[in-house]
Amino acid sequence: MKSLQEIVNRAKRIVFFGGAGVSTASGIPDFRGEGGLYSREFEGLTPEMILSRSFFYLHPETFFDFYRRHMLHPDAKPNAAHAKLFEMERAGRLTGLVTQNIDGLHRQAGSRLVYELHGSVHENACMECGKPFSMAWMLGTSGIPRCPDCGGVVKPSVVLYGEAPDHYACTGACREIARCDVLIVAGTSLEVEPAASCLTYFRGKELVVINREETPADSRATLVIRGDIAETLGALHIEEAKACVRRESANRCRWMA
Ligand code: NAD
Repeated sequence: MKSLQEIVNRAKRIVFFGGAGVSTASGIPDFRGEGGLYSREFEGLTPEMILSRSFFYLHPETFFDFYRRHMLHPDAKPNAAHAKLFEMERAGRLTGLVTQNIDGLHRQAGSRLVYELHGSVHENACMECGKPFSMAWMLGTSGIPRCPDCGGVVKPSVVLYGEAPDHYACTGACREIARCDVLIVAGTSLEVEPAASCLTYFRGKELVVINREETPADSRATLVIRGDIAETLGALHIEEAKACVRRESANRCRWMA
């Protein structure tokens, strides 16, 4: 913790790169961690198979049943990690928050400089007319959700396996990673591509990994913390950046909102 606090105090531009482990303390299971969805059987199928583009088109009813049951968590609230990252952004210390999560909890916590590589469960759109729908609307449907206006299938705006991540989110994330001097990677197995490859853009001084299990980034890290993310980040003391940096950050937040 002492080393992490020193790294954070020295940093000029911090970027956070996170995954499903950031939200386990909010009650949302991850995939590959202990007790994650991968440890459960879904009639012989893995979440990766069900949440794929081909499965969506071939077995839409099973897809939507799994999606509503296991990917939508309307009662989940941001935890201490989400709150601390928002505090870091507000203080002008965090210049980018890159997440593979689709739960929207970083935005719910207040963060604005968020790059959601895999989209968000809060956005759904009709595949025919493009009409947008909320998560609450999706939760209230059964079977294959259809647009009340045109009858088209309403698809969640989340990136399925076999689909390319959002171009804007990806280029923004890689740009921020390339410009930061401290990169904190947390709660991710780094198994999902191309998201994991965003880390190759990092040219900064300190790579910090916070994860319960080993990750492929550990060998390149200057600091590895094998602990809980919410506890670790929650214990950090955040000093405000200089007024000019805070102003620049606030302007970017307004632009990204
Ligand atoms: P993953 O499940 O592959 O890996 C999660 C990692 O986080 C594991 O190594 C686990 O040990 C660690 N971890 C879990 N809780 C932790 C905690 N409290 N403290 C420290 N470490 C913890 O997750 P991934 O790498 O993000 O890849 C999974 C994919 O599935 C992503 O694409 C993501 O979009 C999606 N997913 C998203 C959510 C969500 O939005 N909350 C949940 C499940 C899966």
